[in-house]
Amino acid sequence: MKVESHSCEVLQHDWVNARYKYLRLRCPAPLARATVAGQFFQLACPHGETEQPFLRRPMSVYGIGPQDERIEFLYHVKGVGTRALERLRPGGTLEMFGPLGRGFRFSPQWQRILLVARGVGLATMAPLVPLAARAGVGITALLSARAPSDLMQEEFLRGAPAQVHAVYDSDGSSAVDRVEALLRDVLLRQRFDMVYTCGSNRLLFLMQKMQMRGEAALEQQMACAMGVCLSCVRLFNEGGEKVFRRVCCEGPVFPIATVSGEVQFG
Ligand SMILES: Cc1cc2nc3c(=O)[nH]c(=O)nc-3n(C[C@H](O)[C@H](O)[C@H](O)COP(=O)(O)OP(=O)(O)OC[C@H]3O[C@@H](n4cnc5c(N)ncnc54)[C@H](O)[C@@H]3O)c2cc1C
Repeated sequence: MKVESHSCEVLQHDWVNARYKYLRLRCPAPLARATVAGQFFQLACPHGETEQPFLRRPMSVYGIGPQDERIEFLYHVKGVGTRALERLRPGGTLEMFGPLGRGFRFSPQWQRILLVARGVGLATMAPLVPLAARAGVGITALLSARAPSDLMQEEFLRGAPAQVHAVYDSDGSSAVDRVEALLRDVLLRQRFDMVYTCGSNRLLFLMQKMQMRGEAALEQQMACAMGVCLSCVRLFNEGGEKVFRRVCCEGPVFPIATVSGEVQFG
């Protein structure tokens, strides 16, 4: 599908907890059909009286519904852009540009997948859940959050069956060494056809250290999101070679093993 601007009606826009908001838009069925898990849109956050967000903000699709002409987002209200977005009301219109980027690989032939998410990283991986559930692919999820009130397990699974391991900063269970022990235990008991992660460099680098193969969605700051401005360039190791890639158009999904932890500039 052509990447272009879309004017979408806001159908629902609600807080899911103190920090995260859920946004449901009406969109043309062909757009929802062409959008895949792991892709994102550039949202034009409306200008307010005092704050005027300059650039569009990248947001992963959280839900995709071609049958009911729906695209959904789940986002953390944190700065100028998302505070402006937060003020949109049902009946209003949101301009967005996309779908952008390369999404996750998925096969309905697989037996079981592992999803490792931290914070709002779960929004990016959420569209994999109905795909897997519809295909009868088993789901194991390790969800990490600051505290139980931030976890959003129900928003992630939306009724799909899954084996969930929740870890929190508030009780220390999200510490890297404890997550490593938990993951080792999970990997002893279950075999996964694919492993996905999003939302935490600490978890990503732990998974690299454990030589877990799979895919990571990266949330790099970006401006144009079309591969032109180069603001989202990041370092990767591919077959022993160091290469720069643009997260917006060559990602945001990359093989876990290739993402470099080296400081890139300065
Ligand atoms: C491909 C992609 C998908 C994303 N999907 C989601 C999503 O589904 N839900 C969600 O809540 N967020 C998502 N993000 C992050 C989201 O784009 C930023 O939180 C948002 O742009 C912040 O805008 P702001 O104006 O509110 O905050 P700003 O005032 O711009 O920034 C507030 C804080 O957020 C940091 N920040 C700004 N932009 C980004 C960025 N692009 N990535 C990471 N940190 C950033 C800043 O460094 C600052 O610390 C995604 C980012 C990318 C690149």
